[in-house]
Amino acid sequence: LASEESRSSATPMMEQYIEIKANNPDSLLFYRMGDFYELFFQDAVEAARALGITLTKRGLHMGQVIPMCGVPVHAADDYLQKLIALGFRVAVCEQVEDPAEAKKRGSKSVVRRDVVRLVTPGTITEEKLLSPSETNYLMALARIRSGSEPAYALAWIDISTGIFRLAETAESRLLADILRIEPRELILPDTVFHDPELRAVFEVLGRVAVPQPAVLFDSATAESRIARYYGVKTLDGFGSFSRAELAAASAAISYVEKTQLAERPALGIPERESVASTLFIDPATRANLELAKTLSGAREGSLLKALDRTVTSGGARLLAERLMSPLTDPDRINQRLDSVEILVDQPSLAMDVRDALRRAPDMPRALSRLALGRGGPRDLGAIQAGLRAAKALSALLARAELSVELDEARGAIAALPGELLACLDAMLAEELPLLKRDGGFLREGANAELDEMRALRDQSRRVIAGLQLRYCEETGVKSLKIKHNNVLGYFIEVTAGNAGAMTDTDAGKARFIHRQTMANAMRFTTTELADLETKIANAADRALAIELEAFEAMTRAVVAHAEALKAAALALAAIDVSAALAVLAEEQNYVRPAVDRSRMFAIEGGRHPVVEQALRRQAANPFVANGCDLSPPDGEKTGAIWLLTGPNMGGKSTFLRQNALIAIMAQMGSFVPAAAAHIGVVDRLFSRVGASDDLARGRSTFMVEMVETAAILNQATDRSLVILDEIGRGTATFDGLSIAWAAVEHLHEVNRCRGLFATHFHELTVLSEKLGRLSNATMRVKEWDGDVIFLHEVGPGAADRSYGIQVARLAGLPASVVSRARDVLAKLEDADRKNPASQLIDDLPLFQVAVRREEVAKAAGPSKVEDSLRSLNPDDMTPREALEALYALKKEL
Ligand code: ADP
Repeated sequence: LASEESRSSATPMMEQYIEIKANNPDSLLFYRMGDFYELFFQDAVEAARALGITLTKRGLHMGQVIPMCGVPVHAADDYLQKLIALGFRVAVCEQVEDPAEAKKRGSKSVVRRDVVRLVTPGTITEEKLLSPSETNYLMALARIRSGSEPAYALAWIDISTGIFRLAETAESRLLADILRIEPRELILPDTVFHDPELRAVFEVLGRVAVPQPAVLFDSATAESRIARYYGVKTLDGFGSFSRAELAAASAAISYVEKTQLAERPALGIPERESVASTLFIDPATRANLELAKTLSGAREGSLLKALDRTVTSGGARLLAERLMSPLTDPDRINQRLDSVEILVDQPSLAMDVRDALRRAPDMPRALSRLALGRGGPRDLGAIQAGLRAAKALSALLARAELSVELDEARGAIAALPGELLACLDAMLAEELPLLKRDGGFLREGANAELDEMRALRDQSRRVIAGLQLRYCEETGVKSLKIKHNNVLGYFIEVTAGNAGAMTDTDAGKARFIHRQTMANAMRFTTTELADLETKIANAADRALAIELEAFEAMTRAVVAHAEALKAAALALAAIDVSAALAVLAEEQNYVRPAVDRSRMFAIEGGRHPVVEQALRRQAANPFVANGCDLSPPDGEKTGAIWLLTGPNMGGKSTFLRQNALIAIMAQMGSFVPAAAAHIGVVDRLFSRVGASDDLARGRSTFMVEMVETAAILNQATDRSLVILDEIGRGTATFDGLSIAWAAVEHLHEVNRCRGLFATHFHELTVLSEKLGRLSNATMRVKEWDGDVIFLHEVGPGAADRSYGIQVARLAGLPASVVSRARDVLAKLEDADRKNPASQLIDDLPLFQVAVRREEVAKAAGPSKVEDSLRSLNPDDMTPREALEALYALKKEL
């Protein structure tokens, strides 16, 4: 499109379009034409499809028709919203001169247009485009190559709230860290985007990942670019950052500048987050455990939805963040738990706090719009209401017993400038219009001149009548009138006979200025009346100007306190989260988990938080609580593994998931659905549960299962928690059993993690004889009259049967098939009894032995045969020489 030929053959307007489009290749270009934004070429095709609007055509370009579609300007926000939600970016191009100007240049010349704004998913601030309970992160990924391992860093900014964080990461956990933060938009150097090693990562992210020119990520100029943004000389005061972190941070800032064009969002100072301080949850686990959304993408049914009792959008966002990034430091976790506990213990305080919070609007987002010059009166109103709620809360908390964290929050709130609230209270009206454009947002008494202006504008007649009355009294001329015409404007009129009374005295002479003499009347004016006249004429204009001036002044005052406001908003969110978790704990009967640095994992009477609530809503049988103890057995240092057997539908998956969720909840600082819980912090959580949606990407179920299992076996540490559901199910029985067998041994001997391993291979249960920290558990069932009844109870031991046929019968398989299956099963079981796979336990050496042998071989260095092999060069050999070499090698064995 941007080629020379393409441009020269275009009409002047198309030429302009093509030039602007060439500067914004990765955005849809909204090109302003009259009352429409028009899109052309490929943009039109994509937008028409995405928005479901008609695709039309406009003229020819290089012999081809030009596809076109358009959206009306007044409805543009709705269309923008749709496009942004789908991950598009939009460049809004407006006319930047009066069409009359263009005409002066010549009849053919087109109105000058320019892109005034780039709207991208990660950089929006409009209330309409944002979801209140979700963060809206723009993330930058930088890679620095120095030494052997490349260094990676992430920087993420929510310009709608000013939050700015940084963290280092590594290639192996790149996707996990990105998904943990869930950016709306990820910018990265095009070189990284096109790195074949990382293809899978960006494939998963889809449209979210947006390649940018590598210069944006230049680490040499990064520090000075950041310093320039904050208007500081050096970054020393901000803390110390790695080169990769600086590169990511400055890229994020530059991108914000690029998309916001003239404006500067009030960004907080970049805060460094150590990745080791958060629980690592790999992407498959995150998806499978349905933390923030279900596998089908819905919020309903997710853990977050089940836990969320927050009453502010800031609180909802913070809760989601805590859930997505649970902590690993027991001290910090316990601080959060202290806050929940103290509110559980003072239910009436929790209630009062929530009542106060309900009146607090979304301060950070209003603040950010004000800072960007896109704010309206309601944004000031939001700050005012926020300050008011904060004041009420601060009074409430001052009297209460608090945890360390809540006391800090109270401090941040108390530090808010009281004079700012006083100023807004004095200025703002009760009802605020959406736009500042027409005024009407300042209250009466806010500004004396404004009140006068409004009085003049609204009651000009009364003011004139009042003046007339005064002049009548002062001059004693009862028939004196103030009149108006288009020539003179306002004037005082008396009959000719009364004219003397006006100018008799010196004072009168000085005051009443003669304007006109009529046949039987005299007309005068006064400086007072002339002033009043101009005032009336300008009153409306002036009133608006005063309001706009006051708006700017209030905005400046608010933005000047941005730091304090942001800190207070975070504090409000933290209080909301603590109170919400306290309410939840009370309502759902959760307990405080003991969290420490041990390797314990002892849950008594654990429940699945989401299933439990669902069962209650359906008024079904209540959830059956189950304990789980993976703590190190006596005399051992590392945790245990449970091998869980039981029929399908018995509740295995539910049990597995509930324990993973309890660990996550405990580490995010929430009470947990259990009668008691003691958890030694988990550093990494892995799970392989349920089907994955990778099938769409063309990987077979079995392949996905093996890739995920490989990741677990390679990465789990002795602090990790591993949840494996039916490994080896996707292949032939013997393959599957062998893989499951080897995986259990590896977890027990090499990873030494705590784990739950659900399987339908009953043969595996014999492993508990050889593996000291492995025990068997089973989902209990009752058999009754040939049917099975699921008790959903976990007990020690192994299931003796699968009950697959009974379940099949329950599912409605035809009776003839069920009965035939029974016969086949009887024969198979008969055959197995003669040569059971479980006797393998006597024939197979333990896994670790095999590992050691490999290690020993590695330590000893290459063998003689290997050395000789290495010295051979097959390309230089004749067939004969090759054969001789082969014999020689054989001899060396
Ligand atoms: P499995 O993985 O063994 O096939 P699931 O975990 O999918 O079994 O559970 C099957 C059904 O039983 C689910 O619909 C679930 O709601 C119910 N269920 C599971 N565990 C419990 C429990 N502890 N109490 C009550 N119902 C349960």
